Amino acid sequence: MEGLFSRFFYFSRDSLMCENIPVSDIVKKTGTPVYIYSKSAILEKINQYKEAFKDYPTLICYAAKANSNISVLKIFQENGLGLDIVSGGELYRGLKAGFNPQKIVYAGVGKTDEELKQAIEAGILSFNVESLMELDVLDSIAESLGKKANVSIRINPDVNPKTHPYISTGLKKSKFGIDMEDALKAYRTASKKKNLNIVGIHCHIGSQIMDVSPYREAVEKTVELVFKLKKEGINLSHIDIGGGLGIKYRPEDSPPSPQDLAEMVIPIVKETGLKLIIEPGRSLIGEAGILVSQVLFLKDKGEKHFIIIDAGMNDLLRPAVYNAYHHILPVEKKGETVTADIVGPICETGDFFAVDREIDNVSRGDYLAVMSAGAYGFSMSSNYNSRPRAAEILVEKDSFHTVRKRETYEDLIKLEEEVM
Ligand SMILES: *Cc1c(COP(=O)(O)O)cnc(C)c1O
Repeated sequence: MEGLFSRFFYFSRDSLMCENIPVSDIVKKTGTPVYIYSKSAILEKINQYKEAFKDYPTLICYAAKANSNISVLKIFQENGLGLDIVSGGELYRGLKAGFNPQKIVYAGVGKTDEELKQAIEAGILSFNVESLMELDVLDSIAESLGKKANVSIRINPDVNPKTHPYISTGLKKSKFGIDMEDALKAYRTASKKKNLNIVGIHCHIGSQIMDVSPYREAVEKTVELVFKLKKEGINLSHIDIGGGLGIKYRPEDSPPSPQDLAEMVIPIVKETGLKLIIEPGRSLIGEAGILVSQVLFLKDKGEKHFIIIDAGMNDLLRPAVYNAYHHILPVEKKGETVTADIVGPICETGDFFAVDREIDNVSRGDYLAVMSAGAYGFSMSSNYNSRPRAAEILVEKDSFHTVRKRETYEDLIKLEEEVM
């Protein structure tokens, strides 16, 4: 049967499958809530990106913050991708997963001295620098270590990616990057620093972008700056256009493909002859994961019908913070449907997964799958309400492995000290 979201999550008769395994077989062993990722789905996305960019020298740096499980990172590492990081913790994970530091790029408006130091020592491909002050600090830390740091300036092209305001990062009013007018000055400053190597230019305009046209504007502005720099004798090796490609959250969504992105940006970047870096996160892993939860209670309040499940906003924050839509499917299909709010157990009104949703008429004990939860799912999860974080499972064909155990109550308090 045709998959609803990808070939890897589909119904066989009335049972939701992940690759060749019924999801119910997995969750009966692992318990709930549980994140389930399809390795084949991830590999398919990697191949789509590689295929789309194969005719132009491109380094694909997976954005670790979308899903930073070591086993997930290893899949990208083993397939030749680089890594886009935003913290020292992600650097640590990336090195553990075996990434070559020469394939790691590091963005972020607030890197600490310790984080800068560790990344200089690792010898990463590029610090994507977001302020003039960061340039100064990076130069002096590099000097104290007797090393040189590779830098790109993250410019802010002031384009609207037409996505949720919280995930728009390339507008002038946002905290990210350096405005176009100041970028030239930043490069001139950087070129005078003895301990900095200028290697590239970076921008990242936002996330869940459903139309590739904003990329054109951003890349055109970036290329314009590359030529201005060249005139001043500042030569770069790469252009990094960030990530942001959208994915399918609703069955009817048709996000742009890596091919659409490649066709839009390569002709523009080509004029410079520079290497290309892209930093996809969500589009590599989002559709490859689901969050499965068990129905705890059903409750009627007059007009409203509630389905209360054992996953909460601590497990998947996106509906609460972005009012994001996630499609929800029964793990075993029922004949009839109801209209209900699907909510978690947490003491917050924002703890919902769906409002007034038509859904199979599930009973206590049944399982529901929240689709397209592979990106910004587990990685944004917390222990709010003292809830141990969910387990993570990686499926490949006929087998599955736990890639993160469910946390225990002891885990919740293990770093705490009792003061008498
Ligand atoms: C978050 C982020 C990405 C990845 O964005 P996606 O929308 O997940 O593709 C890429 N680059 C930078 C600098 C980021 O902060």
